[in-house]
Amino acid sequence: MAAPLLELENLIVHFKTHRGWVHAVDNVSFTIGKGQTLGLVGESGCGKTTTAFSILQILPYNAHVKGGDVRLKGRSILRDSVKEDGTIDPFNENIRKVRWKEISMIFQGAMNAFNPVYKVGDQIAEAIRVHYPDMSEQEIWKRIEELYDLVGIPKDRIMNYPHEYSGGMKQRAIIAMALALNPSLIIADEPTTALDVITQDRILGEMKRIQEETKTAMLLITHDVSVVAELSDKMAVMYAGQIVEMGTTRQIFKETAHPYTEALLGAFPSIKGDKKKRLKAIPGSPPDLISPPRGCRFHPRCPYARERCLEDEPELIKVGDGHYSRCHYTEELFGAGQGGGA
Ligand code: SF4
Repeated sequence: MAAPLLELENLIVHFKTHRGWVHAVDNVSFTIGKGQTLGLVGESGCGKTTTAFSILQILPYNAHVKGGDVRLKGRSILRDSVKEDGTIDPFNENIRKVRWKEISMIFQGAMNAFNPVYKVGDQIAEAIRVHYPDMSEQEIWKRIEELYDLVGIPKDRIMNYPHEYSGGMKQRAIIAMALALNPSLIIADEPTTALDVITQDRILGEMKRIQEETKTAMLLITHDVSVVAELSDKMAVMYAGQIVEMGTTRQIFKETAHPYTEALLGAFPSIKGDKKKRLKAIPGSPPDLISPPRGCRFHPRCPYARERCLEDEPELIKVGDGHYSRCHYTEELFGAGQGGGA
């Protein structure tokens, strides 16, 4: 069987701080196939962005890889970069070949990523020149025109300055930049949060269309489950540095198997808007990852917590075909079948 496009296997990334180690990512595993979209959801500070930055190895200096691996098309892109003490060499040749060409990223707040004193087209052209030094100027500008066509910006706006674009247009231009080198995977970190809801909806529609056209896989990071529902084939729900539930988007919405996912879905309006429901805030706040709670990390906020949850850490257990949950009482609470360890 062919290897998945991207594979994270038991990835552990901690940050060294003067207060102690921050357990930002603890044993995170998932795969993304060619052309597939995985939605990584959870509250702020649950480790989503650190997971993404670990893939591209753009972590701060105090990050230490404590275990696990990241593979692209079956080949490790992490091992060569990890030094003996666990810190990362961000300039490792191995990952430099992968960044932008194979995996590109739309950063959170990326609308402000363009340099205000250069024209947008020039900035995209420069990114292409750096990675394809043999490409002619004619080919580069033809590529930029294709990209503008793809993201729906008129070509006569290529040589505008960033301030001459609306918010939605800037976001489209950022998507064009991310697609410029034909990557196999785009990591999109909260790609639409800075936009109003109407522009957000339009951009999400465009992203879906572009993805279908280009067959680019996507790791979509967001706290907004409705964004994920629109774009993702699969979902992974993160809480306090761990994946607590993973499955197809349908399974997560229709066969929810973890109390945190249930709470997260309950905090957002119905994605179809077809039935009125009372939104419920999740009580409490995510734990301090320097000393995460013993047992189940969700237990201080879980309405179903029992004595066992306070001491005994649950494992990610298979509850259906490709569906996993990290809860001792999944079967009892949600009727999901137990199918062995992940
Ligand atoms: Fe809640 Fe216990 Fe399940 Fe954790 S293991 S989610 S505390 S019921």
